[in-house]
Amino acid sequence: CGIIGILGSHQVAPQLVEALKRLEYRGYDSAGVATINADGQLDRRRAVGKLVNLSDRLVTDPLPGQSGIGHTRWATHGAATEENAHPHHRGGIAVVHNGIIENFKELRAELVAAGYNPESDTDTETVAMLTARHLDQGMSPVEAARATLSLLKGAFALAFLFDGEADLMVAARKGSPLVVGHGEGEMFVGSDAIALAPFTDRITYLEDGDHVIVTRAGAEIFDADGQPVSRDMATIDVGA
Ligand code: GLU
Repeated sequence: CGIIGILGSHQVAPQLVEALKRLEYRGYDSAGVATINADGQLDRRRAVGKLVNLSDRLVTDPLPGQSGIGHTRWATHGAATEENAHPHHRGGIAVVHNGIIENFKELRAELVAAGYNPESDTDTETVAMLTARHLDQGMSPVEAARATLSLLKGAFALAFLFDGEADLMVAARKGSPLVVGHGEGEMFVGSDAIALAPFTDRITYLEDGDHVIVTRAGAEIFDADGQPVSRDMATIDVGA
């Protein structure tokens, strides 16, 4: 029930797990991380149960890369299995999600009719499949994520990464919290400032309906109408 995203300057998997540990208090039944490797390809590791299962997996099967997303899941749609754990990775995009996509059944039925078959029972995978479809239709990663966001009903905090795009993360919130953290040549998104405390104390709280386009150079925030907005950055002392 927590999300983290990092465009970093060194190996990011340990930082992702550290942030997820700081989100454990929210409760969860499984966890996972995805990174973009040196070839620009997304790869992921997921595990049911406690975070130690994920960190053990990362010891035997490390996940290199300086850009990544991570998730602790509190299952709402689909059992607590590895295949239902996030990140969901379909056709060049990976996504982590907190919340519920209320209209996922209708959206998934349209995707199935168009030849996109689910590999999990989650509402979240529909977000990944929709975005993959938009990429297949020729949209850029940012356009594809935006087109997906415009179709979603329900509550969500979301973070997207894309194959071949090691300096891009798209994130959005509606009905679930999400913050942006500003580092030195590094950028972060997370469910709360506590998760980001080991990395930065410079935090922007997104407002409901906002989405953000993040690169290592900074964050561009857009409101629910898609208009660019500026949101205050505060220095938060939550204790690293
Ligand atoms: N609804 C999603 C799922 O069941 C996300 C749950 C969560 O917020 O962790 O996978």
